[in-house]
Amino acid sequence: MRGKQPDRRLCFYDLLDALRQPGCPLCHLAAEASERWLRSLFHEQVTDAETRLLLRRQGAFCARHTEQALRTGDPLGSSIIYGDLARCALDAFPAKWNPKCPLCEQEEQVLGAMRNTLLDHIEEEDVRVDYEASDGLCLPHLYGTVGRGRDPRADVLLAIERGKIDALSRECAGFVAKSHYDHPGELTRGEATAWRRAARKLGGGHGN
Ligand SMILES: [Zn+2]
Ligand SMILES: [Zn+2]
Repeated sequence: MRGKQPDRRLCFYDLLDALRQPGCPLCHLAAEASERWLRSLFHEQVTDAETRLLLRRQGAFCARHTEQALRTGDPLGSSIIYGDLARCALDAFPAKWNPKCPLCEQEEQVLGAMRNTLLDHIEEEDVRVDYEASDGLCLPHLYGTVGRGRDPRADVLLAIERGKIDALSRECAGFVAKSHYDHPGELTRGEATAWRRAARKLGGGHGN
């Protein structure tokens, strides 16, 4: 159940849609891709021989995707899959445990395509405007996208992101200043939510 190479045109529209969601667009797209993969696994592929082989070869999901699998899967499908994986782990026990999460690999494939799509289009006026209006990339995905910053297209992203990070820092400071009993003040909408957006900007994540 390998992911197909993403279609470049579909990537562009998916990216535009993700820019309109709260939080990092790449975190949003990665989570969506994993959700699709897991739904397909539990609804159609539980007994598929190729998928079972893939899961046995990879060994296990990482902690983040294990939680997502527990939310998405049903007790019967999970019992079939995890019973099989536990048996494989026992057969190899106590050999070195070195699982490779198939969903992290799938996400990397999606993210690679989306990073290229973003860089390919960021200099276009309408995409730049949408990007400026969004929460922008989380720092882990920003650094993963701009690399060493030698690509001139990365300069556009970095300039926008510098402004976003500066605004978040100022809004958090505004919240702190207005929380003081000596100088209470009415919070702006940005100041009221900056702490959540700053946490996600630094660590990654999507949603409100
Ligand atoms: Zn992200
Ligand atoms: Zn994973």
